Amino acid sequence: MKLIESILTKNPCYTAGRKITVKGLMLHSVGCPQPSALVFVRNWNSASYDRACVHAFIDGNDGTVYQCLPWNHRGWHCGASGNNTHIGVEMCEPGCIRYTGGATFTCSDKATAQAVAKRTYQAAVELFAMLCQKFNLDPLGDGAIVSHKEGCKRGIASNHGDPEHLWTQLGLPYTMDTFRKAVKAAMGGGAAAPGGVSGTKIMGAAVATAEQMKAYIKAKNPKVAQSVLDMVPLYLSEGAAEGVRGDIAFAQSCLETGNFGFAGSAVTLEKNNFCGMGVTANGLKGNSFATAQLGIRAQVQHLKAYASTEPLKGECIDPRFKYVARGCAEVVEWLGQKENPQGKGWATGAGYGAKIVTILKAILAIAGGAAPTPAPVAVSFKVRVTATDLNIRTGPGTNTAKTGKFTGAGVFTITEVKDGPGSAKGWGRLKSGAGWISLDFAQKI
Ligand SMILES: [Zn+2]
Repeated sequence: MKLIESILTKNPCYTAGRKITVKGLMLHSVGCPQPSALVFVRNWNSASYDRACVHAFIDGNDGTVYQCLPWNHRGWHCGASGNNTHIGVEMCEPGCIRYTGGATFTCSDKATAQAVAKRTYQAAVELFAMLCQKFNLDPLGDGAIVSHKEGCKRGIASNHGDPEHLWTQLGLPYTMDTFRKAVKAAMGGGAAAPGGVSGTKIMGAAVATAEQMKAYIKAKNPKVAQSVLDMVPLYLSEGAAEGVRGDIAFAQSCLETGNFGFAGSAVTLEKNNFCGMGVTANGLKGNSFATAQLGIRAQVQHLKAYASTEPLKGECIDPRFKYVARGCAEVVEWLGQKENPQGKGWATGAGYGAKIVTILKAILAIAGGAAPTPAPVAVSFKVRVTATDLNIRTGPGTNTAKTGKFTGAGVFTITEVKDGPGSAKGWGRLKSGAGWISLDFAQKI
């Protein structure tokens, strides 16, 4: 699900500023031929638009969810008391239908219209599953998920027929019962069943390269200190040492430090604390570490405390390791206490994990780690390899093919070094021309 926050800050409903205790979710469809959610978002974000306001629109062309109100803000979506209890979500409708009176329409292109309705239905299932988890709602519970039409029957909404009128007239097999069951099933996939967790696993090998992370931070903060750029590879090596994804730790640091600008941050660069460690209340200054490497190591260890029940491989230097309920956040999405199924987690702010995932995705979207790298500097140095089975690869990374040959133990000359996946210290090109080896397994001599 792609969710874009697009709060209608000018709409009088938003400025009214009333909050609700969320007891349920109401599904709507817009009741006019307009598939583009952005058209609504733009028109409704106006002080003069005082007729309605909803929590989200789902785009009919691509299924994107546009969040228009904070979830616990009182919306104006159903014209009755349901506004005091229910979040309201509008699905956009196909452009090829024409209303002929009430909830009745004709359709000039059934296949396209069905595709739109299927897309919004599926996105709504995902969104409602997320919201049920967030607000601890049982999708099959009485009144937890209703349509506008059902809301009318229950006496909590005005007399509309949406969105069932859309599905029935387009000949789709959807009902609110199929919808609720689909939401339940979608939540099952996201529950804490062993091995069945959905989300971004914190434990594992990093996917982003040091180049991608450096390119990201340079783009976000052109004034970033050189010392920050120099320490980026430490995220990968420290992460690899504990089996934690170093790129996730780095994305978290980008969030916690304001892209290493430290503006408004409780910590400073000098403290070598890049994750807000120990800032357990506003105004506290947080822990400090002797070197950047130790600060990153403590962060990695702290992430491991949340993500796994395995013991640390290295000596514990995380001063807060002992406070973590081990294994309570296997995925990044659960690092925020509001989204965590047990209400535990690294941070209290809403959507904490989702923010880290967004940063991680932006890092990974940077062209394959091949973001403008300076021309390879000519190097030549000797390394000693003690392993007898060190793979020689065709390129600098575990994403390139093995040549099928091994170095064998001995001393080798490296003529070029490049960063690449699977090796924290980078990859070295063998002078012999046989290929590349991971410098993690070679001692410079
Ligand atoms: Zn409605």
